[in-house]
Order: sequence, then C-alpha cells, then structure tokens
Amino acid sequence: MDLDEPINKQPLQADHHSEPGPGAASLDVLVYDDDRSYRALLRSMMEQSHDVRFKMLEAGNTDQMESQLNHHTPDVVVLDLDLHGKSGMEWLRDLHANNTAPVVIITGSGSERHAVEAMKSGAYDYIPKAYLTYDQLVKSLINAREKWDLLKEKEELQEKLAHMAMYDSLTDVLSRHALLEQMEFETQRTNRYSRDLSILMIDIDHFKKVNDTYGHIVGDVVLKEVAAILQEHTRRSDFVGRYGGEEFVIVLPETGITKAVVLAEKLRKHVEKLSITYDGQVLEGTTISIGVAEYERDTTVDAFIDRSDQWLYKAKEGGRNQVQPHIARTK
Ligand code: GH3
Ligand code: MG
Ligand code: MG
Repeated sequence: MDLDEPINKQPLQADHHSEPGPGAASLDVLVYDDDRSYRALLRSMMEQSHDVRFKMLEAGNTDQMESQLNHHTPDVVVLDLDLHGKSGMEWLRDLHANNTAPVVIITGSGSERHAVEAMKSGAYDYIPKAYLTYDQLVKSLINAREKWDLLKEKEELQEKLAHMAMYDSLTDVLSRHALLEQMEFETQRTNRYSRDLSILMIDIDHFKKVNDTYGHIVGDVVLKEVAAILQEHTRRSDFVGRYGGEEFVIVLPETGITKAVVLAEKLRKHVEKLSITYDGQVLEGTTISIGVAEYERDTTVDAFIDRSDQWLYKAKEGGRNQVQPHIARTK
C-alpha cells in the first residue's frame, strides 16, 4: 500500500469529523513525519484502539502538512522533530502561535536536548521513537487533548472574569470603575502631550417615570437600548461607560468642545428616535440630557466630571432633551 495515498485520494474537505461509534470518543490526529514506515507504524497502532477512535491524517512533507492544516482541524498533532525543509521546531512554534492543537513530539535517538527545547516551546509531550508503545501513544494523545481542553476552558473563564470586572453586566459598556480608570489615564496623557479631551455626561430624562409606568424590566431594556445607541454612534477610540443608574459618560480623546457638542447633539437625536416594543407595549419618547466639558490642563478627574455635571444640570433646568453648553456651529 502506498502510504501517501490517503492524502491524494481523500476529498480533503469532505470527511473531517466522521461520526464516532456509539459511546466512543473520537480524536483526529495529524501525523507529520517524513519517514513513511514510521507513519505506518503509528497508523497501525491507532487502528488497534477501541475505546477511543482515532482518525489519523498524515503528512510526509511541508506541502502535505500545509494542505492538511488548510482542510482539517486536528485534535492533536504528532510532529517529528527531524524534518527536511521547514524544521520541526519551526512547525511547533507556528502551531503553538496559531493555537492549532496540542502537539506531541516524536524524537529520534540522541535528540533529548531537542525534546526539552520542544517542551519549553509549547509541546505537550514527547515520545522517543525507539521506545514507542501502543499504550504510551494512546495515553500521550489523550492526555495532550485533555490538557489542552482544560487549558482552553481556563482561558475562557479568565476572559469572562476579566470582562465581568471591566464591563457593566446590564448594558455591556464600561463599568464605573473602569471608566474612572480610563479617565485617569486619558487626563494624564492629555497633560503630558497637550492633546484635546472632552467628556459627555448623559442622563436619561424622567427615567423614574418609565420604571413607574412600565416596570423595572422595561426600564432595564431602555437602559440597554440607550447604551447600544451611544456605543454604536461613537468611535472605537471613544470610551462609553455607565457612571450610575441611568447616567452614562463618554470619554472623547483627541476631541475639543466644539466637536464634542456636535457628537452630543447627534446622540441626542438618535435616542429621541428610539422606539421599543416590549410585551406588546410600544415605548417612545425616550430623551436624554447631555452636559459637555472640555478638560482643563492639570485639573483632577473629579473636577472634570463636576463641570460636565454642572452643564448637565443646566440642560435639565433648560427643559431636558438638550445639550449644554450650546455652541453655535461656524460655517
Ligand atoms: P431627570 O430627568 O431629572 O433625570 O429625572 P429621572 O426620573 O431620570 O431622575 P431620578 O434620578 O429621579 O431617577 C432615576 C431613576 O433611575 C431612579 C431609579 O430607580 C432608576 N434606575 C437606576 N438604575 C436603574 C436600573 O439599573 N434599572 C432600572 N430599571 N432603573 C434604574
Ligand atoms: Mg440621574
Ligand atoms: Mg434621569
């Protein structure tokens, strides 16, 4: 049998993740070794396994390896370190950097030093070629995948926790704490480089009435929708945060008062158009008042926020649904 045949014959995109037998776990293992007989040995070992069904994909040179990776997502990669062309260590680093799959190294005799280096570069295990046994192979492949899955789970959990600490759980904009930290950072940067910096202090008008009329759940929906509008109509370099109950702050780096007022006016108009249908009820007429302030060099974040709050108060006093200060647009 020509061992390179499966690569050429298989419709590569067609049959990844074939169904495992009832109750059997299944692992797709990509073996890259330029020694054909060694690939055959690994294949025969994997075929013996019943508890775990292995589907072995193989590559004998760089092109075949690239092709397999383009068409398949292996669960484990078995990699020979002594390869022609692009070296095993280079492959290992690439697979590791691309988060492809856990890599188990197989090494020829006298390559212990390389095996150690490979483990440091992210390999999950190594097997000396000469001492390979069926049990060892199966154990190593399964352990590698289990360890990988656990690590991925842990990473996802850590990301989730970091997100929870940084973002408000209801509206998914920055939390108050993260917002204030960002403001601290931005004011310092502005002081150092004399850049423009402005903030918008935004408060939903008569929000208490929304809660009283429609209930808290609808109030929460309004909060989410308003936050989404603020997020959608600001730049990625701006920071939208929930400052308090129905108050939001937007930090606008590289933005002077005139541009900030223009943006505030645009946001005010978008919110005014908001129409929310909830449980058969249509809620319209949500409005916001906005106080705008430009940062004054060497003042504190508290003083900065205070000034925007004073303008917000003026907007409320002036009848709500408006931006303060008004700035006439120069043509
Ligand atoms: P104004 O136009 O002067 O801002 O009037 P207002 O009613 O919006 O102001 P007030 O500060 O009296 O009321 C704010 C309301 O926001 C009261 C509070 O119950 C509600 N609120 C704060 N946080 C939340 C929340 O997370 N969900 C809901 N549904 N309501 C909230
Ligand atoms: Mg308020
Ligand atoms: Mg309010």
